[in-house]
Amino acid sequence: MTEVQLQEFKLEPDSELRFEVESKNEKVVLEVKSGYAELFGTELVKAKPYEFHTGAKVAVFTWHGCTVELRGKTEVSYVAKETPMVVYLNVHAALEQQRVAAEQESTRGPVTMVVGPGDVGKSTLTRILLNYAVRMGRRPIYVDLDVGQGHISVPGTIGALLVERPASIEEGFSQQAPLVYHFGHSSPGENLELYNTIVGRLAEVIAERSSTSGVIINTCGWIKGDGYKVLSHAAQAFEVDVILVLDNERLYNELKRDMPKFVKVVYLPKSGGVVERSSTQRAEARDARIREYFYGKRTPYYPHSFDVKFGDLKIYKVGAPSLPDSCMPLGMRAADALTKLVQVWPSAALQHRLLAVSFAAGPDDDVLHSNLAGFVCVTAVDMDRQMLTILSPQPRPLPNTVLLLSELQYMDNH
Ligand code: ATP
Repeated sequence: MTEVQLQEFKLEPDSELRFEVESKNEKVVLEVKSGYAELFGTELVKAKPYEFHTGAKVAVFTWHGCTVELRGKTEVSYVAKETPMVVYLNVHAALEQQRVAAEQESTRGPVTMVVGPGDVGKSTLTRILLNYAVRMGRRPIYVDLDVGQGHISVPGTIGALLVERPASIEEGFSQQAPLVYHFGHSSPGENLELYNTIVGRLAEVIAERSSTSGVIINTCGWIKGDGYKVLSHAAQAFEVDVILVLDNERLYNELKRDMPKFVKVVYLPKSGGVVERSSTQRAEARDARIREYFYGKRTPYYPHSFDVKFGDLKIYKVGAPSLPDSCMPLGMRAADALTKLVQVWPSAALQHRLLAVSFAAGPDDDVLHSNLAGFVCVTAVDMDRQMLTILSPQPRPLPNTVLLLSELQYMDNH
């Protein structure tokens, strides 16, 4: 038996312990022994063990000082005294002032968008700001436009969630009744027309539900060329009040130049703790996210597996092959083809693919603007028996609604 490694750290006020769990099937247990600490804005309970698994990259921050113990094998573990947490706390304080003003004037609270290149801590800052807001008794809306990671549902979607409790240390924000829209690719560039359409739709729905607590929007790390246009479009669609730019002066200057004057564009430093991820690690994170969707993280889920006849399925994909404008029927733009539904006939190519289960009953039912009920994964295709085997969080039968084919794949070898 290998010995469990035990490390103890004394943290001074305003410092953080950073660690990573790298090795396969490794588990690290964290415990606060004395003092107060938080993890990406969620307070840690003293003497309570928290578990972290392979791939976790964590920072335990303390405003007042604390002692922390780690049990298990960490790849990296060190204490950092330089962090941008005071700056982030000031941003929170400024947003809080705007919420108070919104209450007094009966208007909506601040709509904030977090932008920046990849690996600067956008998702982490979003989580910190949401946590600080709920800890003040607010109920902000969390919007995630990052189709690459899909923090709210699975990769290939955008979504929104009302945040009523701080994120759980091990499982993140509670996923009750999220609003989720299908995109089907892991980068907005795969279909800009569709991406902008669903972002616009989500923005409309959120505008109807806005409160004095405001909205915090996480975005993709694609910031150049069309990526910049996508960000500007989202800013406009959500009518943002504040844009927080992490670690990119060029983006900051471009937004300062192009955004209307009432939009506050704020430059923020990134944390030295944010870990860069290779494209393999990103793909692994996507995969892990999908596995979590079906099997749960800490609380295990037990998905169902069953067969469905080809004849009982209505599968569509979004986006017909686009023709030049000159070949389009009168009054139609080539871009319109990109948001058209095209029926997909079941074939072996469906194996391992995710299918979004829409609330829309039929293809004429405003499918793109419909919220998703959830996802299933095709685990096998039997052309002889004309059957698909499906992995689903819900027991059979599959609802008799439209299924939207995603490009994202998941190999179920659980
Ligand atoms: P992407 O563009 O891929 O969405 P991002 O800019 O949103 O990336 P995050 O996902 O917030 O970046 O952070 C990348 C990784 O760094 C995450 O695994 C996160 O847990 C970790 N991380 C963030 N801040 C710290 C920190 N201060 N110390 C240690 N690890 C951190």
